[in-house]
Amino acid sequence: MSHLFEPSAAVSLPIAGRGERFPVHRIYCIGRNYLDHAREMGMTVNRAQPVFFLKPADALVSDGADVPYPPATADLHHEVEMVVALAKGGRDIAVEHALGHVFGYGVGLDLTRRDLQAAAKQAGMPWDSAKAFDHSAPVSTLHPVAAVGHPAHTELRLEVNGAVRQRTDIDAMVFNVAETIHELSKLWALAPGDLIFTGTPAGVAALVRGDRFRATLGDIALLEGRIV
Ligand code: MN
Repeated sequence: MSHLFEPSAAVSLPIAGRGERFPVHRIYCIGRNYLDHAREMGMTVNRAQPVFFLKPADALVSDGADVPYPPATADLHHEVEMVVALAKGGRDIAVEHALGHVFGYGVGLDLTRRDLQAAAKQAGMPWDSAKAFDHSAPVSTLHPVAAVGHPAHTELRLEVNGAVRQRTDIDAMVFNVAETIHELSKLWALAPGDLIFTGTPAGVAALVRGDRFRATLGDIALLEGRIV
């Protein structure tokens, strides 16, 4: 079948140790998943009501590419997060089966226009312009479960220009990976290729042009890049 114009290019991530790439379907994000970050934002955590939002798949920045400083903000913030990649989808996925849907793990930045998010929160408006902008989702190479297992007791860390900005153990997550997949699958039909940003710890702060960031998930995943 012919198209009116050339369809958008598929978005994908490299896979460690493999020639083939991981085709990305959707990018889901959970908010307020570390208590210390919820507190620094002046928010509380409600275990009965996880906070979810999405970024468009083509907001992904892969392969260590430069991240352009976005327009319409004076307060671009970093949020370092473990990223979960799904190999299997489904609805109403039980907690005890959820990890069987995971392909692998990476580390990413949930880049945020904090000034626009604060204004949206105050006005009771949606977060899309604060969270779902172009180039808002830099993500590392993915590491398959077959090679690295499911990370636990693992340090999540972000350095900017060599100084540590954010640091936590992923065990501090309010909703763990299995619980997050379970909760998401009650709201959306998950699919192979979905990515999940699993929330950020305290220490979010501004990035400016020229900053170099280095995000790590233990010795499992590494993302390095530059704001330009
Ligand atoms: Mn986040």
